[in-house]
Amino acid sequence: MMDNKNEVIFQCRKCEHNLFIEGIDLKLIDRISKMECRSCGEEPEENWILVGLGNSEEQKDDYNWR
Ligand SMILES: [Zn+2]
Repeated sequence: MMDNKNEVIFQCRKCEHNLFIEGIDLKLIDRISKMECRSCGEEPEENWILVGLGNSEEQKDDYNWR
């Protein structure tokens, strides 16, 4: 089911830390591509993998969030 609560999930290649992004646009994608991982400090270059859609509140136990 798709609703506006869905967030885009990115994953750190190194430590599998998940990043939930609400209301994503191209500017935000550009920012994420320059962000290092908050969890392991991995460099941003080619680090973030787009893993799909999710909801950080409903899935907080399934994901390594923040
Ligand atoms: Zn990481």
